[in-house]
Amino acid sequence: MSVSSRASLALAVVLTAAISSGAGAKTHKPAPPAPPPADPAAVATALRDKALTDPTAYAVVESLTTEVGPRLEGTPAAARARDWALAKLTALGFSNVHAEPFTIPSWIRGAEAAEVTAPFPQPLMILGLGRSVPTPPGGIEAEIALFHSYADLLDAPPGSLAGKIAVVTQPMTRAQDGAGYGALGRARFRGPSEAAKRGAIAYLLRSLSTSDSRSPHTGRLEYAADAPRIPAAALGVADAELLDRMAARGGPVRVRLVLNSTSSEGATAWNVAGEIPGSETPGQAIVIGGHLDSWDPGQGALDDGAGVAITTAAAKLIGDLPRRPRRTIRVVLFGAEEMNYSGKAYADAHMTEAASLVALSESDTGSGPLWTLQLPKGAAAAPSLKPLASLMAPLKVVVSDQPALFAGDDFGLLQIGSAIPVFSFRPDATRYFDIHHSADDTLDKVDRADLNQSVAAWAALVYLLADSDIDLRVLAAANSAGGQP
Ligand code: ZN
Ligand code: ZN
Repeated sequence: MSVSSRASLALAVVLTAAISSGAGAKTHKPAPPAPPPADPAAVATALRDKALTDPTAYAVVESLTTEVGPRLEGTPAAARARDWALAKLTALGFSNVHAEPFTIPSWIRGAEAAEVTAPFPQPLMILGLGRSVPTPPGGIEAEIALFHSYADLLDAPPGSLAGKIAVVTQPMTRAQDGAGYGALGRARFRGPSEAAKRGAIAYLLRSLSTSDSRSPHTGRLEYAADAPRIPAAALGVADAELLDRMAARGGPVRVRLVLNSTSSEGATAWNVAGEIPGSETPGQAIVIGGHLDSWDPGQGALDDGAGVAITTAAAKLIGDLPRRPRRTIRVVLFGAEEMNYSGKAYADAHMTEAASLVALSESDTGSGPLWTLQLPKGAAAAPSLKPLASLMAPLKVVVSDQPALFAGDDFGLLQIGSAIPVFSFRPDATRYFDIHHSADDTLDKVDRADLNQSVAAWAALVYLLADSDIDLRVLAAANSAGGQP
């Protein structure tokens, strides 16, 4: 029997019971016998197969990108995203739908421009990095010091960049696991302060991009406390290569940079959550989610409308079952991931309930397809999770031998602070960084089949975890003590 026909049968049973008892009836017929509990693996299989053609996830990301669009924390659009999320989770049947506010500094982009002024004047495409200070009103015009790798910049001695604009043009490696971004991320986070420590007055970074599109890719920087705060922006890939060619000719290259932004303390952001309550042990929760905020140039479709859609749709499909799983499933849509504030807010608010949280996992690397699943340490051999390998096989998702180590940026502090077990689905990131944090992060990049493959895998695993009484902490401890791998 399919899930939907079982749902119809259950509804019919409830309706028949309600009708036969009659409103205000004085006598009660015995309640109909409860249906026998279904085999969890069979339910998970049906969920998986239903998800492959279910329209919910695509409808969610289509709605978010169309009706809200870009939604950087601290902007008016973020408040609209909060309202959208509250309405969407409610409409999809979630319980306990609410927003948890917290205070953040805001940063709002203004007009930006850059150009080569000598020796060959021409415009450059740039995008200011998140949290960058603005330039003076007239901009900064200076000679560049160009480095072909971030390591070369770090090798430059103190004072050697005095009065110059530091430029790093290291290209990013394309990789299925996104390793190229991990390797080069520090050039964006820390590069501005490292350049400033060496005397630079501004910083330009070749976009952390695997695309040949000219659209720059933004992202936040992290100023060090012991360095001057200098303006910083990402160059389009083609523009970085242009500066490489000009620098190769040997003479000085001069660039003018104008960055405007406004920032203020005391803005509000929100983590929005909703739950599918458990049928037997609702006090225990599997907590999943994505982040609701997005960078400002695109529509936040892959980052992270897809993660919002995948986790919301997976939980909604489970909530539609005629018999809900034993444990609660909570979906959290984080409100300030890009500037890295919502993880701390969530940890601060929920550390006290850590013991009741069964497992954590976040979806924040686009719309798939998934290619591997890492389980909590020691979990793969647990009887209730044994069906996973065959459940995932038709989806081309490999259950990894390696345990999951990290639940995601927004669960990180909660996970580390309380040792909550985590699992991790890894999407194929081969093309993700063509789009990530650029104006090209738009709905047309979301592939419906890949998105639904992700929903199918998430729904099957989350259902098995939620309908079991598996204690992942015990399994992890046994594994650490030399027990089952
Ligand atoms: Zn993200
Ligand atoms: Zn992002």
